[in-house]
Amino acid sequence: HAKSQGANRYLFFNDSMNKLAVKRLQVENLIRHGLKESYFSVYYQPKMDIATGRLTGMEALVRFITPKGGLISPASFIPVAEETGQIIEIGEVVLRQACKDVKRWIDQDLFQGRVAVNLSSRQFSLPFLCEQIDDILQETELPSYHLELEITEGTVMQSPPQAIDTMKKLRARGIHLAMDDFGTGYSSLAYLKQFPLNTLKIDKAFVDDMNTARGRNMVDTIVTIAHNLSLTVVAEGVEQAEQLEMLRKLRCEVIQGYYYSKPLSADDFADFLRQHKIQHNKPVAVPVLS
Ligand code: C2E
Ligand code: MG
Ligand code: MG
Ligand code: MG
Repeated sequence: HAKSQGANRYLFFNDSMNKLAVKRLQVENLIRHGLKESYFSVYYQPKMDIATGRLTGMEALVRFITPKGGLISPASFIPVAEETGQIIEIGEVVLRQACKDVKRWIDQDLFQGRVAVNLSSRQFSLPFLCEQIDDILQETELPSYHLELEITEGTVMQSPPQAIDTMKKLRARGIHLAMDDFGTGYSSLAYLKQFPLNTLKIDKAFVDDMNTARGRNMVDTIVTIAHNLSLTVVAEGVEQAEQLEMLRKLRCEVIQGYYYSKPLSADDFADFLRQHKIQHNKPVAVPVLS
């Protein structure tokens, strides 16, 4: 009978499920190993003010650097990390590193703006999130107004009243909040106006669609909604000059994308800041921080 039971189990746990489970376990082990050996690294992608052509800030993006120097993109491990809860530890590592790096660039007179760090759903709903952020800011000596957090519609829509509460606490500290990947989730306009946001990031998918009239109208609509809510608009994934020009006409304020720069390692980003400083003969300026 044991044999038939085994066969049943095999039937239930079919081949594709098996492969998926094995893959998941491999990624989970890789992440655990990576956390232990500090294989996680933070890259930075500059954001450009369309009106002035100048740097306004950057987004911190996690990378897994293998011992051989290979680079693993977050798309392949963030979903697993989110499932296993490892994202909480990864998120803490990224936040601490980003604050440390930015504090150094500020001290070196290379930068004055904000760094945006992505927060996962599980991180955002941690009961001690604000305390954890306070601790990291204190430890790294980065003033809170140099920090921006990016959250998605999915994260805030899990429990909007609680999300609003957490967002208010973060805003009270001078931290800015951006809604990431806007338009891909399912947040309602009724909620959007209640969320204490500063920035709305238009997802790359909409920028890609701007080669059609329909796509341009869509971006126009999103920008209008954002401006009616007094939010700054950042377009993600801008790769071409034509896209930049269309976004300028539609009064989008900031672009982020390969057109301006790919995400850079901390060393390369520091070089980017130095070149920028030479070009403009002064440190990077940003709109007044409060
Ligand atoms: P995201 O937050 O929407 O980040 C923007 C993504 O678009 C980044 O991918 C960036 O490299 C990519 N990108 C920017 N400009 C262009 C462009 O012009 N063309 C193309 N093709 N891509 C562009 P990346 O770094 O692979 O990150 C993917 C996602 O992983 C992020 O999307 C974010 O959701 C997540 N992620 C990254 N780092 C972290 C992190 O530290 N914590 C959390 N929770 N999630 C993170
Ligand atoms: Mg983001
Ligand atoms: Mg995004
Ligand atoms: Mg995205």
